[in-house]
Amino acid sequence: MRGALGGPRVLLRRLREVMAEPVHAQEKLDRIVIQIAANMVAEVCSVYVMRADGVLELYATEGLKREAVHLTAMRADEGLVGLIAREAEPLALSDAQSHPAFSYRPETGEEIYHAFLGVPILRAGNTLGVLVVQNRAHRLYSEEEIEALQTTAMVLAELIASGELQAIATPGADIAIRRPLHQRGVCLADGVGLGHVVLHEPRVVVKNLIAEDVQREVQRLEDAIAAMRAAIDKLIERGDVAHHGEHRDVLETVRMFANDQGWLRRIREAVLTGLTAEAAVERVQSDTRARLLRQTDPYLRERLHDLDDLANRLLHTLAGTDFATSREGLPENAILVARSMGPAALLDYDRAHLRGVILEEGGPTSHIAIVARALGIPAVGEVENITSLVEQGDAIIVDGGAGEVQIRPAPDVEAAYAEKARLRARRQEQYRSLRDLPSRTRDGVAIDLNINAGLLVDMPHLAETNAAGVGLFRTEIQFMVAQRLPTTGEQLALYASVLEAAQGRPVTFRTLDIGGDKVLPYMKQVEEENPALGWRAIRIGLDRPGLLRSQVRALLRAGAGHHLRIMFPMVATVEEFEMAKAIVAREEAHLARHGHPPPASLSLGVMVEVPSLLFHIDEVARKVDFMSVGSNDLMQFLFAADRENRQVAARFDPLCRPALRALKVVAERADALGCPVTVCGEIGGRPLEAMALIGLGYRRLSMSPSAVGPVKAMLLKLDAGAITAEMERLLAGDGDLSLRKALLRFAEAHDIPL
Ligand code: PEP
Ligand code: MG
Repeated sequence: MRGALGGPRVLLRRLREVMAEPVHAQEKLDRIVIQIAANMVAEVCSVYVMRADGVLELYATEGLKREAVHLTAMRADEGLVGLIAREAEPLALSDAQSHPAFSYRPETGEEIYHAFLGVPILRAGNTLGVLVVQNRAHRLYSEEEIEALQTTAMVLAELIASGELQAIATPGADIAIRRPLHQRGVCLADGVGLGHVVLHEPRVVVKNLIAEDVQREVQRLEDAIAAMRAAIDKLIERGDVAHHGEHRDVLETVRMFANDQGWLRRIREAVLTGLTAEAAVERVQSDTRARLLRQTDPYLRERLHDLDDLANRLLHTLAGTDFATSREGLPENAILVARSMGPAALLDYDRAHLRGVILEEGGPTSHIAIVARALGIPAVGEVENITSLVEQGDAIIVDGGAGEVQIRPAPDVEAAYAEKARLRARRQEQYRSLRDLPSRTRDGVAIDLNINAGLLVDMPHLAETNAAGVGLFRTEIQFMVAQRLPTTGEQLALYASVLEAAQGRPVTFRTLDIGGDKVLPYMKQVEEENPALGWRAIRIGLDRPGLLRSQVRALLRAGAGHHLRIMFPMVATVEEFEMAKAIVAREEAHLARHGHPPPASLSLGVMVEVPSLLFHIDEVARKVDFMSVGSNDLMQFLFAADRENRQVAARFDPLCRPALRALKVVAERADALGCPVTVCGEIGGRPLEAMALIGLGYRRLSMSPSAVGPVKAMLLKLDAGAITAEMERLLAGDGDLSLRKALLRFAEAHDIPL
């Protein structure tokens, strides 16, 4: 091609015709390379396709020796082709053979060609192959030619991604794009789900690459940019961004990029080469993605998400479709795949068809995880790059417990997981058979098992598990899934329904625990350096008592005639508890004055989750009616390790002596002072940890409903006296700081199921 804009446009049109022809995949590819070579006035045009083993195999060529097709193969660290695939950047050379990476392959007969231009075949930033043109003469390809070849590579990306080429793959050398992949993440919600990918924010599939009228495309692009900017501005102004789980700062960043001239200029330039506006956005985004994916700097990688978001918005604006997936019409066995998702968005989906959730973000204590667990949907978080590794409709398996994902699983892998799911169902059946046995250890010590809840959908678990009650009702979940602040009336309605559903079993309501990682999108956020240590939970409640008062009022009214239990989160001093108690007393008096019937009894307690309480635990235990150890936060503060930060969260073992000694102090002092104490953090629901807690003297645990069966199975086989003695011995010892191994040995020796 010689500079004229007609060049690539004519080529793209021809390629589209070839793509639509009902011919064999090899024939199609052979015709494509002939067209490209002719159009680019190149003597050679070759397509290398990335195989599952990372090798680039020559799939078609015009100009090189035909017998080299499916024979010549380059590892990703070999030759110019490997270099292009690795760097995901075009490479133009006037004399290829003098480049240090050049690797001579005699079977191709390429020694007579000097000039070389290769571009990566990219899709969503992943390299699917390499497209090369070569000329005999020493010449340097122009910028326009490089652009044109990159655009042409998009057509090939589509062909490769369609899976059509798999039919001509050498047996045992599958192509990469459709290959099975095994990815790891972190467990958000236990369970095994088999199904098909549903992208929460589906990519727009760009079908029409070639512009009929370049000026019109330029105009469409400009209009779409303007419309998108206006839409973002409106979202920010409205402040009501809860629905898609988006936060204001995300939108602010997106807005910043929407005004980024460099990014927009590249898209405009791509349109001028003859692409449709959609194809131009996809081209530029795929290139940007490929570059940013190779960055290790977390800040730059974060920008990748913002740019993805923006490109996706722009594509939807151009296509005139909605940004988020329509929640209706979910296919059977849907596995949702998203970069991130708020709890409200998850609740919007039809649960009957949902088999799993996979996210690029989302730690184990995130609220999406809490909601997924409440709904019993297996979920895995922190799976890197998952949204671009899958296509809509791909077969996929999520193993929540193991934190693993199988993409496009091979039949034997699928069979193994189907078996695992069946086994799990059988195990659940066994747990159900323990349901009616008294919750006592072998030596007759009663252990109260409670469930943690936060939504009305959690409540049926109480009867299913036969738990003693709700040990922790996280009231903030109602606030987090709502699109605006719930009114006192709405709060009252929820609490009344919860008490009714509990049918006389005790429910411990925790007052609003917001701030820190628990943000309400509709509430003005205060910028804080250290939100976890900042203005949160009871601190907000005491400083701005309006919110706390209305919640307490709702609780007292809903609790009329019931044994009402209220607990305050993040209390750091006994005085804070006394202040909160005074607010409750004031509301009680207020309601009495207005003739509302009071609760049958009222107990007030605190979460023990700030280490300062450990050092005046006696004062606390004397003042409160009960305590509940929030080990999630207590461990985060004890070890100064952010529970949401993957790099540090798993660094410290809660079964290590320092943590266990801290937990022991609470159990001992509570017992000595006659103050009931529960553990309601995640450790209470893990059989091994629960066993250790019983050894420390805890007799009440509260956990996610799915943990009740396994913990009960454990304690039925446990001798409380033996574990108490063992814990004493281990805590006094000086071996490994972590007692995990020793406790596992104990469990094995005593035949305790974990
Ligand atoms: C905890 O901190 O352990 C706890 C139970 O509360 P949350 O996880 O809601 O902070
Ligand atoms: Mg907490």
